[in-house]
Amino acid sequence: MGRLLVTGQSGLIGSQFKGDLISLSSKVCDLRDKKSTEQVFEFYTNTEIQKDFTVDKVIHCAAKVGGLGGNINCKGDFFYDNIMINTNVIEASRKFDINKLVCFLSTCIFPDNIDYPLTEKKIHLGPPHNSNYPYAYAKRMADIQIRAYREQYGLNYVSVIPTNVYGPNDNFNLENGHVLPSLIHKCYLAIKNNTDFVIWGTGKPLREFIYSKDVAELSMWVLENYNEEEPIILSTSEEISIRDLATLIADTMGFKNNIVWDNSKPDGQLRKPSDNHKIKKYLPNFNFTPIEVGVKETVDWFYKNYETLRK
Ligand code: GDP
Repeated sequence: MGRLLVTGQSGLIGSQFKGDLISLSSKVCDLRDKKSTEQVFEFYTNTEIQKDFTVDKVIHCAAKVGGLGGNINCKGDFFYDNIMINTNVIEASRKFDINKLVCFLSTCIFPDNIDYPLTEKKIHLGPPHNSNYPYAYAKRMADIQIRAYREQYGLNYVSVIPTNVYGPNDNFNLENGHVLPSLIHKCYLAIKNNTDFVIWGTGKPLREFIYSKDVAELSMWVLENYNEEEPIILSTSEEISIRDLATLIADTMGFKNNIVWDNSKPDGQLRKPSDNHKIKKYLPNFNFTPIEVGVKETVDWFYKNYETLRK
């Protein structure tokens, strides 16, 4: 087997892949641009340049991502960037003979009005939630592209659907980040400035969080072992309320003042529980990192890297 190329190297998921691999960050290649994407693929798959070390498999994590705020504020960017990145990466993979591609989708792509739990069969059964439809439709098209390429070209390309991922190298931006990194940053500032810890919405929504290290480990397994056309959900299937998450972060960081709920901010979807039967069937003994452990490691990383992290 040849080498692995990972896109989105500086990001939350991409940064967790270690070892002998080629990692691409947006600084090296703008994957929204077809020509740049093809140049990079041509370079790494060229036997004259790479000799015995040509790339023949890809884990595609690069994406324009954000939390509820980012999705609401930058709808055009979320659609354009994601549809271009996925289209270019999947097409360049085909063109340059990549044998196996693992593409990242997200539970955001599921229909809003659907019976729970979310399963791999329900992706296209209705419109996504209004707060993130541009991102959701762009990502759904990656699933379509992969199915089409499997059928027309016989390529063994697959996709994974992680739930809310968190961990080191996340975007800790207060307005546009996902809830977990945003709350870590907000709690840090509340401690520093001796203020209340103000959280959006009611605290009632439920989410399923998965640690980025678990996602990387599971994706490596998918790369080697999963060959189905249908995507596979990567999930603990354990829900936690935003209220309990805020308390966990406050406790982990030693916050002593009040937690305050800002009801003028949206709750987004109330819940989106997912069914992890498929991954459990394949890997019944996989040990997901408990959220207390993952949050502690993420908080430690946040303190250590505060000056340079994305915020
Ligand atoms: P989602 O799972 O796609 O909705 O994305 P998020 O990671 O942004 O989670 C959003 C949920 O967390 C909503 O219920 C928000 O009301 C709640 N929330 C509370 N405080 C914050 C915050 O500071 N940032 C974000 N993004 N969400 C927050």
